[in-house]
Amino acid sequence: MGCLFPIQVMEEKVIPVRVAIRCRPLVPRELAEGCEPCISFVPGEPQIIVGTEKAFTFDYVFDPATEQEEVFNVTVAPLLRGIFNGYNATVLAYGQTGSGKTYTMGGTYTTTQDDNEVGVIPRVIHHLFNGISQRSETEFVLKVSYLEIYNEEIIDLLCNSKDRLVLSIREDAKEGIKVAGLTEKTVCTAEDMVRCLEMGNSSRSVGSTAMNAVSSRSHAIFTISVEQKRGAQRDSYCCGKFHLVDLAGSERQKKTKAEGDRLKEGININRGLLSLGNVISALGEDSGKKNHIPYRDSKLTRMLQDSLGGNSHTLMVACISPADANLEETANSLRYADRARKIKNKPIVNQDPQAAELLALKRQVQQLRVQLLQA
Ligand code: ADP
Ligand code: MG
Repeated sequence: MGCLFPIQVMEEKVIPVRVAIRCRPLVPRELAEGCEPCISFVPGEPQIIVGTEKAFTFDYVFDPATEQEEVFNVTVAPLLRGIFNGYNATVLAYGQTGSGKTYTMGGTYTTTQDDNEVGVIPRVIHHLFNGISQRSETEFVLKVSYLEIYNEEIIDLLCNSKDRLVLSIREDAKEGIKVAGLTEKTVCTAEDMVRCLEMGNSSRSVGSTAMNAVSSRSHAIFTISVEQKRGAQRDSYCCGKFHLVDLAGSERQKKTKAEGDRLKEGININRGLLSLGNVISALGEDSGKKNHIPYRDSKLTRMLQDSLGGNSHTLMVACISPADANLEETANSLRYADRARKIKNKPIVNQDPQAAELLALKRQVQQLRVQLLQA
């Protein structure tokens, strides 16, 4: 297949970033420490109240009883339908360490996991291949990549080499943001793709902080690219990219008692989230003029350039703990998520540029013929 870049052949529609809040149950450690819930919900409304603050309204609010399947069906399944129509999609899991980001995304998936516990990524894989099996007249090419941004370095999680390769971001006029040298595995079955997920999960960086015994201090991006072509016509070709992102813990550094290397890591991790916050703020400002969006301030925001204010359907799932001990961080997360709701994206169908050009030329010829006949 030729190189691809999104070409606008359809009318641009502005679609805001959707934001879901997911509150997990109190975990055994919190119960043992005598923590009390400090979150309340408004029945039938996507609203949430922290302590005695005013209610926040989001696109979706999931209480602690909400199961993985419901979160997927309500928030992620529509994005997958978009992928089949050639749109890009992004899911971002945001929240403090221990709030349920990895649980929600399925970043600890193993084939022995209880079906009810399975998170977003394995469900995306399952539904994707189900959808493909129902479209026998369409040819599909599926590729996956899995990377981690750790300490402002990009690490390839699907690289077989024992030496972890550090990669750099390139901006290609035709293909947009690319990570040079990143492993892209072509996969034919759901099992192949699940193996890639498991392989990457086992390579992720984990470390100890005072917050949590094992906490992820990196941003992980699992990307599925879906190319499809139906029949012989060139304009039947389209390609959608699905980014599934498990962000690093959003807690402020002082709580983790970080020292030395840990502190340096902390600063760089915060750089990604800080830049993400700045990008979200800049995109949310309704100044009427095109203001500068600081995508280039971090690797994370460069990678997510299309997902925020660009060509993608994007969902942020802000994960929170219900415990009173986390009240301050939870309130911060809700404020952050509230800002993300102001971002407007312009998703378009990604078609083969040559096919799109051909289509445009055909239309022009048609119009000229009509003009000639009228002359
Ligand atoms: P994070 O990735 O944000 O640091 P985790 O996903 O590792 O947090 O979750 C922390 C702990 O809480 C884990 O033991 C996880 O199994 C549990 N947990 C998180 N969300 C839920 C949930 N919705 N239901 C039940 N347990 C959950
Ligand atoms: Mg995690």
